Amino acid sequence: MDFTYSPAENEFRLELRAWLADALPKGWGETVFEPEDERERAMFRLDWERKLHAGGWSGINWAREYGGRGASLIERGIFAEEMARARAPEGINIIGHNLAGTTILAHGTEAQKKRFLPEIISSREVWCQGFSEPNAGSDLASVRTRAELKGDRFIVNGQKIWTSYAQYAQWCFALVRTDPDVAKHKGLSFLLIDMRSPGITIRPLRQISGECEFNETFFDNVEVPAENIVGDLNGGWKIAMTTLTYERGPEDALGRQVRFKQELDKLMLTLARTMQGRRAAIDNPAIRQRLARAITELEIVRLNALRSFSRILEGGDRGSDASMTKLYWSHAAQNMYEVAMDALGPLAPLSGQDPAAAALGRFQLSWLQSKAFTIYSGSSEIQRNIIGERVLGLPR
Ligand SMILES: Cc1cc2nc3c(=O)[nH]c(=O)nc-3n(C[C@H](O)[C@H](O)[C@H](O)COP(=O)(O)OP(=O)(O)OC[C@H]3O[C@@H](n4cnc5c(N)ncnc54)[C@H](O)[C@@H]3O)c2cc1C
Repeated sequence: MDFTYSPAENEFRLELRAWLADALPKGWGETVFEPEDERERAMFRLDWERKLHAGGWSGINWAREYGGRGASLIERGIFAEEMARARAPEGINIIGHNLAGTTILAHGTEAQKKRFLPEIISSREVWCQGFSEPNAGSDLASVRTRAELKGDRFIVNGQKIWTSYAQYAQWCFALVRTDPDVAKHKGLSFLLIDMRSPGITIRPLRQISGECEFNETFFDNVEVPAENIVGDLNGGWKIAMTTLTYERGPEDALGRQVRFKQELDKLMLTLARTMQGRRAAIDNPAIRQRLARAITELEIVRLNALRSFSRILEGGDRGSDASMTKLYWSHAAQNMYEVAMDALGPLAPLSGQDPAAAALGRFQLSWLQSKAFTIYSGSSEIQRNIIGERVLGLPR
């Protein structure tokens, strides 16, 4: 594996770094943070995504004819690293950019590309993902939300759950059952549904972190034009698998490891300033041992992601490494936040106006949020099954 970047790639990095330094508020990530209120924060993130687009930094690896920057896969990785390095806000239209857009690019008709991609890339339209249902999560092929083709439209009835950002979304891509009488993988279709259609009800769900990122979404005789199908009728499983490999890809892991390393640095600084008896918490040998392990694991996340980049560049498919990458980063990050909680002990639940206390409170919030890492985008047990069966070739 060659770790050196070409002059053009280095230039790309520096150009982006300079743009970010200019575009983000002064003191960003140090003294200036996102709004505390959840809705305000969502709107702030949306504004940020629109700013990225205006600056030419949206859809960077999409083809130029669809408004992208035509960047290479390596540049896409550099983009993820630099965004994380600058602690740039995460988007609320990430599902639009990373999943809806990439799936439509791969499988959409020309008319769908022309209709949807400009609105996604500019974040004029926000997307959500309607895959999971109360009885179909890991076993995604069991979805029961029914779509019946009547003339030139589908009539959709059923319920989705854990639909992140549905409350902000104008569009949803959904896996729906179009034929209930065949083997379950073979009766599914992939539909693009306008969330402003009559018959859609969204009910927020509160998470352990106190936030309402995701929702229950109900469809009651919702009409969807027949041309909003991606791929063939009853051919939705193949399309959904493409979406999932983008959800678990190395670009995401590369950005995440930078953000987790920043958290780890902050933790070590906090522990150096936190006295336990007569010594700083960071001088406790048991804690040092676990911090060393966390540092090593995050470095492995980085190297794993780079290995995946290499494989894809050499013509390998995205699927085979995706599960290993996702499985490893999610556990590495959870371990790091466990160390934070154990090392901070009774100080961990503190939060408040004072910056030191606010930093402690953020670790607890991140620890709570990290519980979801090993569930979404396919739980760890499912990733292990995929690795066992498809990568190692073990019997089912
Ligand atoms: C923060 C967050 C955001 C999400 N956002 C979205 C979204 O926007 N859109 C969307 O569609 N979904 C979303 N999801 C849902 C997510 O994809 C599902 O939670 C996930 O696929 C697991 O499904 P489930 O919750 O139904 O659990 P289940 O499938 O019921 O699994 C329960 C437990 O059983 C285990 N298990 C299940 N089957 C097997 C098996 N065959 N072998 C071994 N163990 C097994 C699982 O690993 C898990 O531990 C989100 C989830 C979270 C946590």
